[in-house]
Amino acid sequence: MALFDELKAIGKTLQEAGKIELYGQVLGVQEKLMEIQKRLFTLENENRQLKEKLEIKGSLFFENNAYWTKEGDNKNGPYCSCCWDNDKKVIHMQPCGNPAYFDCPKCRNHSVQIYPDKSEYSQEPEEDFNPFAIF
Ligand SMILES: [Zn+2]
Repeated sequence: MALFDELKAIGKTLQEAGKIELYGQVLGVQEKLMEIQKRLFTLENENRQLKEKLEIKGSLFFENNAYWTKEGDNKNGPYCSCCWDNDKKVIHMQPCGNPAYFDCPKCRNHSVQIYPDKSEYSQEPEEDFNPFAIF
């Protein structure tokens, strides 16, 4: 930052001229400027995250016990409703073995029925399955 270089040059000149009190003031200004820069960085990050969340919030819709987004014809999701409703975090839910049910890897939202039309585990054994084959 050019401002820091200018302050450093002013400080050096004051130090060389023996103006120690003014030199100390310049150092104080430099310190405050660094604090402001740090705060600005934090606020810029927060602002970026809030913009992203606003963008996501605008595109989320609730369907079949979960949130989804749509990009053109593609439907993305399912996203955990607990994580979004509590923390505004978009967490992809994971299949949990049964094609109708999903788990959230982040919270305790487990076995959520996402696809009610998909049947539960097929209880029918495979055609060539013979449980007595080893006997
Ligand atoms: Zn969750």
